Amino acid sequence: MEKTKPFQAASMVQGQPVIVYGASVFGELAYYALAELGITPDYFCDRARTGTYFGVEIIHPEKLDQLSGANIIIASCDYFDEIRVQLMGQGCHNLFDMRSLLSMELPKDRMTERAKAMYAYAQVYDDVAEHQGMLNFHRLQFVVTERCSLRCRDCMHLMQYYKKPQDIDLDASCRQFDHLLSLVDNVSELRVLGGEPFMNKDVYQVLDHYAASSKIETITVYTNGTIVPNERNLKSLQNKKIIVNISDYRHNQERIRNVIAKFEECHVKYFLRQYDSWQDCGDISERGYTKEQKEQLFMNCFERGCYTFYKGQLHRCPRSVHAMNLGAMPDVKDDYVDFSDETLSDDVLTKQLHKLRAKTWIEACNYCSGPDIWSQSVTPAIQAKQPLAYVNQYKN
Ligand code: SF4
Repeated sequence: MEKTKPFQAASMVQGQPVIVYGASVFGELAYYALAELGITPDYFCDRARTGTYFGVEIIHPEKLDQLSGANIIIASCDYFDEIRVQLMGQGCHNLFDMRSLLSMELPKDRMTERAKAMYAYAQVYDDVAEHQGMLNFHRLQFVVTERCSLRCRDCMHLMQYYKKPQDIDLDASCRQFDHLLSLVDNVSELRVLGGEPFMNKDVYQVLDHYAASSKIETITVYTNGTIVPNERNLKSLQNKKIIVNISDYRHNQERIRNVIAKFEECHVKYFLRQYDSWQDCGDISERGYTKEQKEQLFMNCFERGCYTFYKGQLHRCPRSVHAMNLGAMPDVKDDYVDFSDETLSDDVLTKQLHKLRAKTWIEACNYCSGPDIWSQSVTPAIQAKQPLAYVNQYKN
């Protein structure tokens, strides 16, 4: 299948519009890079947004049926390959990626904070573009514990529902994840998370093991900044492949300062990400959506590319993993690939991985209000006094 080319003004088909596919953070970076080249896009394209972006009209992907000769730049990291395949199916062949644009000097003073963070992290996009068409995962989330030092009422990962949270069995999980890795070509970013990953004092085992993997390009550890990691974990965090994302919910300032001071002292790479709001996905009760409603929610969801590995299972998003693990929804075997099932051959598992990537909805969407541009905003990290109640109908 045809691949994208790094964008060059000289490679554009003259007389055809320039369309930036993705009206979000990479769209912003594409806009600034094109401006440096004296080009204003004719359209942005996005399935989840309408109106204008930087004063440029946003069109829906369906409109591209009539614009198949356009010069289209894929400005998305999470859904790069999905968009590429969709565009080819619509007969679009002048497809470009942003590798050359992201290597340009861009005006950081005009960018949003998110765009600046992505610009600094552009190698992940490069990696995704380089591995297009392969069994490449842009992002894989590896859960090391259900335990957390906070109990956020609106946690997207559903930790607020666990009554007796546990650490995972690291040996078994690493063995099963190794099996997954043996079947994929590349993982651009492995995210190590919980709960709070440093609640698991042995998280270094995962970090050491996967920092040594040639199939994993970068590792990001997601912490809420409440725990200074122990000395053994700090030692592993010094690996140059690893960066720590400190999520700042604006109410643990002293603890975050302590964590940062320790990271500075130990030469651990980190960045601080401040959150002013979260999106409210609602509780985990069944909604009774039709297939079309589930599909619409899924296709507009910001989390549908957050492939999450937990207890040997690879799911499309963290809510799917944890809603099933909690027993709040049925165990839908079609919605995950199960590396804990040793009877499955590599051939079967590979087919299931492709099937998982091609999903247009999952049953977990029926237990979710979806993080999308229409979701309600909530204040981040509001604390619940005790685990939240839910109905466990599907698990002993
Ligand atoms: S359950 Fe569906 S809508 Fe909710 S986060 Fe997951 S993919 Fe998105």
